[in-house]
Amino acid sequence: QQQRPLKILFLSSDTGGGHRASAEALAAQFQRLFPGSTYDLFDVWTDVESSWPYYTIKDTYKSFSATPWKWRALYHVSNNAVYAKLADLHSYYMNEDLITAKMEEYNPDVIGEKMIDISVHPTMNYVPLHSARKISSKIGRDIPFFTVVTDFGSGHCHWFNKDVDKMYLASEPIKQIAQSRGYVPDEKIVMSGLPIRYDFAVQADAIGDRTTDQGKAHQAKVREQLNIDTNKRMILVMGGGEGVGSLSDIVNELYAKLRTQGVDATICVVCGRNDKLKADLETRCWDTVVSQSLQSYETLKSRIFTQILSRHAHRSRRIQLALDRAAAKSAKGYDIADIPGNVDVIPLGFVKNMAEYMVAADVLVSKAGPGTIAEAAAVGLPVMVTSYLPGQEAGNVDIVLNGGFGDFCSDPETIALELACWLQDPQLLDVMSKKAMKVGNPHAAEHIAMDIGKTLQEQLSRYR
Ligand code: UDP
Repeated sequence: QQQRPLKILFLSSDTGGGHRASAEALAAQFQRLFPGSTYDLFDVWTDVESSWPYYTIKDTYKSFSATPWKWRALYHVSNNAVYAKLADLHSYYMNEDLITAKMEEYNPDVIGEKMIDISVHPTMNYVPLHSARKISSKIGRDIPFFTVVTDFGSGHCHWFNKDVDKMYLASEPIKQIAQSRGYVPDEKIVMSGLPIRYDFAVQADAIGDRTTDQGKAHQAKVREQLNIDTNKRMILVMGGGEGVGSLSDIVNELYAKLRTQGVDATICVVCGRNDKLKADLETRCWDTVVSQSLQSYETLKSRIFTQILSRHAHRSRRIQLALDRAAAKSAKGYDIADIPGNVDVIPLGFVKNMAEYMVAADVLVSKAGPGTIAEAAAVGLPVMVTSYLPGQEAGNVDIVLNGGFGDFCSDPETIALELACWLQDPQLLDVMSKKAMKVGNPHAAEHIAMDIGKTLQEQLSRYR
């Protein structure tokens, strides 16, 4: 049956890159499945002259997320039913009329076009839902409202409003929060996975299982297209859309440790919008990085014991041997030219073809952004998680650890040593890759768009 085009209003805000990425992934699917559909992105707090503190949301996010203790405090103070209710009521009384008026402007007058609202942001549920219902009764036409939760392992209680038409979730822990905190009834919940860009579905289908010959051949083809050496290992390092976290130190340690461990590798660093980091990496003297790193081997050795020896006995034993080897050599004096590994660093700006880079990589090193973790899992890529936003992203670390497709470590030197071990252990990489695929859901965006289409059809037949 021919589907009607939709006019979709995504309610989102650029607090991090993930919400927009999910909205765009969904928009692409709607346009594919419902030809002629159009969409807009509306940030209810900054696209109207909202009151303080709501119009500061993007700046607040930027400054708080860069200071984990501040973020932890804000997240935990606000993540309870009493605070959420007060904040909802306050934002309603201060801003509802402006938000309703702006949302009304998006209302289509084209006959046959169906308007729907989709929230992909935790703060865009209570007031916009009220506004949508108000506009619906004013114009005498239903405007369905859906929430697509773009968090993975944990979610703020602002996400969950039981009055939406349907809610799309990515994991069991999130479902439990939706039910216990938001009282969202079972029939409104759809376990869909996190919507990621269509490129990931295309790449996931093309690579299949990356541990097979077909998978390896596709990976080699993509590497050639990206101009990345096919005979070396490849590590993708990133820190969300803004390129945050200790990326600089991590890259230094990776470079030095991979070289001294004799691992041939290409390190692609996605700096996102962090232009300063990209410029720094482009001019860095890598031989100095190696010399400095060698001097710190001895102190690292004692730290390694306390940090990871007990956690990963089998891998740590290898790390210990590697350290002994390196310490013995450094005692004798190293000639940089003799260091065995051949490592390249490729600094990248904001990358648009992330799916290809993730397919080309053997390992991802990243903060625990929900979008990034979901994307890696979708293409079977093992992940080393290096940091997380307290509260909001903590659950994403559990998704990786419980899913068995990676590890968490925040110390750059230890990260580098553990990765050197992974990259020399193809069997371990294969096991992690298969486990990642079990967690990944490359077609989530398509499934959500199809389910929304089905829901609209059902609602239509009910009204007839
Ligand atoms: N991203 C991208 N290009 C870049 C850096 C990041 O496309 O150069 C995308 C990444 O693929 C992911 C999103 O930005 O889809 C980051 O979302 P995530 O939820 O991981 O973290 P956030 O930035 O929202 O904290």
